[in-house]
Amino acid sequence: MTTNAAYVVDFDGTVTTKDLSSELAAFFGGTEFMEIENRYRNREIPIKIWLQSIAKSLPRDMDILLAKALQWTEIRPGFDSFLDHAIEQDSQVFIASDGFGFYIEPILEEYNLLHKVDYIYRNDTFVDGHGKLQVVTPHAHSVCTVCGNCKAAHVLDLKEKGIPVIYIGDGSNDRFGASWSDYICPRDQLEKICKENDFNYSPWFDFYDIIKVESPSLQDRSAISFCSPRGSGIKV
Ligand SMILES: [Mg+2]
Repeated sequence: MTTNAAYVVDFDGTVTTKDLSSELAAFFGGTEFMEIENRYRNREIPIKIWLQSIAKSLPRDMDILLAKALQWTEIRPGFDSFLDHAIEQDSQVFIASDGFGFYIEPILEEYNLLHKVDYIYRNDTFVDGHGKLQVVTPHAHSVCTVCGNCKAAHVLDLKEKGIPVIYIGDGSNDRFGASWSDYICPRDQLEKICKENDFNYSPWFDFYDIIKVESPSLQDRSAISFCSPRGSGIKV
């Protein structure tokens, strides 16, 4: 009997319909946001630099930032049922986010979902003792400069324990974790990348679609993955 797969789930634009980090950046960042966003989309700067650059434009008040994030939150349909399904089949659910991160637990708490998630790998954003907004990336790779949160390492941690991984995400930055997983449920940018690279995937509309996905078997993805979390990170 195969081990039930674990789910590694992106947060912004995946669990929530909107990317709340991008929404905060666009709302408070003004023209500076467009410049930083264009540089990121052209892959001139990695997400870690995007976060730190945008943070300079945000209010230095976590209450204001959290209130906006909560106001704009819409949980994608079926997420609650998906979490119940995962619990029923004894599958672990990990959220892995490379956004500002501070709003994830409050949002899940607000919707009574937090207790159904096994663990949350996320960045943190806070006002430091000098009144400056800081973004810290505790799950970054030790030398790779691309991601703030090394989602590929979280996928690999599970696989090295013999647990297959289904990756659920929407953004281009999800390509690293997705490329290491055994099956991918992609939307938007990630779907295009899966198609271009002939990965094992099925696109999805809401979390009811993901409930239908069967547990994959463990696969060695080292030759076709986009990065090397146990090595120097991004493959050149
Ligand atoms: Mg996303």
